[in-house]
Amino acid sequence: MTERVYLSAPDVGAAEEACLVEALRSGWIAPLGPDVDSFEQEMAQRIGRRYGVALSSGTAALHLALLSKGIGPGDIVLTSTMTFAATANAIVYTGAEPYFIDCLPDTGNMDPSLLREALQDLVEAGERVQAIVPVDLLGKSANYSEIQAIAEEYKVPLIVDAAESLGAKHEGKPAGAWGDIAVFSFNGNKIMTTSGGGMLLTDDEDVAAKVRYLATQARQPVVHYEHVDIGYNYRLSNLLAAIGRAQLVRLDEMIAKRRQHREAYKQLIAGVHGVSIFGGEDDQNDNCWLTSLLIDPSIAGFHAADLSAELSMQNIESRPLWKPMHVQPVFADARRLVNGSSEQLFKTGLTLPSGSAMTVQTFKRVQDAIATFFESRCSV
Ligand SMILES: *Cc1c(COP(=O)(O)O)cnc(C)c1O
Repeated sequence: MTERVYLSAPDVGAAEEACLVEALRSGWIAPLGPDVDSFEQEMAQRIGRRYGVALSSGTAALHLALLSKGIGPGDIVLTSTMTFAATANAIVYTGAEPYFIDCLPDTGNMDPSLLREALQDLVEAGERVQAIVPVDLLGKSANYSEIQAIAEEYKVPLIVDAAESLGAKHEGKPAGAWGDIAVFSFNGNKIMTTSGGGMLLTDDEDVAAKVRYLATQARQPVVHYEHVDIGYNYRLSNLLAAIGRAQLVRLDEMIAKRRQHREAYKQLIAGVHGVSIFGGEDDQNDNCWLTSLLIDPSIAGFHAADLSAELSMQNIESRPLWKPMHVQPVFADARRLVNGSSEQLFKTGLTLPSGSAMTVQTFKRVQDAIATFFESRCSV
């Protein structure tokens, strides 16, 4: 059997190995150390933020972002329904209620007009909306010029889930620079990885200090470990931060590689009726983390699932877009304001191998498999 092609395998090699070994030999194993400090500074500088706090995952970063804003039981947090479950889970960890907002059909990102409508209704009903958590889907920033204006108008903190959008921009400002707090993930499948990890970015000194405190078991600064709050063990290990520093140096090169794949997929679908690149019309500011097709079966004559089945037979991974949170069994009772866009994207989208570690030969295997499928299924 030929080797399996994954959507987004980690892209690590000699540079990461050298940094990791150096950190190991330096003796800074347990658990914080100079690579954590440097990684935080390098990330904050790259994004143009005052503070970065390296944490054990993007989910942990979201959780502490919410806690640092005092969010808890009785609060409502407005978030994107089109996302990975981690966004909604972090809200539930705090005891707050996630309220799901649908997306724009062309980007999958939070629809600002739905956000305003939900916010207005909830505020009029006297409910406590304490945060807005938009998500940058698959490496495209949400519309922060509009969302930020709404957050400011209603005086609700904006916490951005930028887990997928490191390296992207919106109106010239980097992903992660929008909102009161933004969060990145360095999970193994993200655009850059520490094998597992995350980072919280903010310009607010108090938030950064509170997050560091909560992430290290909420210890008071006395020798006998006095505790007045419930804390967490959420810091990133120094060894993993060393990998992150090596990855950050290579970030632009890795983004360029993913963009090349995006461009090649665009050529591949040119002239194939009923098939388009999700968000591909306007992607010069995206990081191209994952490339997905949108397939309209009434025009194309086949479904996303048909192409997926064919790729699967050739040991090539593909996957629908995120299943919206409001149709997940675990959130069946959650409140929402939806317009059908996310459900439509879930039905028609198919994400293709996009990773920067893919070799030319491997990527050609994917291209050939898709081209052969198109030839067999449609009149190109
Ligand atoms: C990956 C991801 C997360 C979670 O990050 P982890 O580091 O895996 O905990 C959160 N939100 C979104 C949108 C993600 O894609």
